[in-house]
Amino acid sequence: MRNVIAPIRHLRSLLVSNVFLVDGGAGDRWLIDTGHVTERMTLLLELRSAGLGPRDLTGVLLTHRHSDHAGNAAYLQRRGVRIYAHEADADVLAERTRRLPLVRGEGSMMAGVLAAIENRFPAESLVVDRALQDGDTIAGMEVHWVPGHTDGSVFYRHATTRALLSGDTLLTARPPLTLLPGLATAYPTFTADMARAHASLQAFHDKGVEYNHLLAGHGAPLLGDARSRVLAFLAGR
Ligand SMILES: [Zn+2]
Repeated sequence: MRNVIAPIRHLRSLLVSNVFLVDGGAGDRWLIDTGHVTERMTLLLELRSAGLGPRDLTGVLLTHRHSDHAGNAAYLQRRGVRIYAHEADADVLAERTRRLPLVRGEGSMMAGVLAAIENRFPAESLVVDRALQDGDTIAGMEVHWVPGHTDGSVFYRHATTRALLSGDTLLTARPPLTLLPGLATAYPTFTADMARAHASLQAFHDKGVEYNHLLAGHGAPLLGDARSRVLAFLAGR
């Protein structure tokens, strides 16, 4: 586990997607996302290497419901961890709202394959312990609802570090395999509504919320001056 910007740490051995630990000590330890089910052992081993087990986690905050982020949430919940997600994605995870399949659109063959995998093997169902709404504060973070990639996608803005945990709405690497660094918006093949995702991203920045670091669902942490770099990227799109 690597310190990104205290108290936020990155579980760097997970490869499919990013999982962060906001470690405020016992009773204040929060996981941001849970990785894909295929990386469950890796997740547990990385926690263990930091001397932690599931019961040491205060809760899990999901950026959105996709399997590469919520893939181990139900498992962790069975081990006593409280799970939080925006109410729109919580409804899908609980199977109260129908999960709309991803539609193969523009994008590479690999993206189409990954979308088919998401459709066939979504995150395991669960009923969240608390559904979040825009404007909520939890774990020292503000919840900003940015629907589009999924209906219940959110940003978490960590107040003291001014880090923005952005899930897949704003990426620091290019999909589908996210090996190439670079700012990117939600990728069409994996996104429910691109126009809505872009509008959410613009509306979030129009609110004037300050942030300094960008910790995305895929790609390396972007440390320092993140907001102006994102604004330049959005202006140049
Ligand atoms: Zn993802």
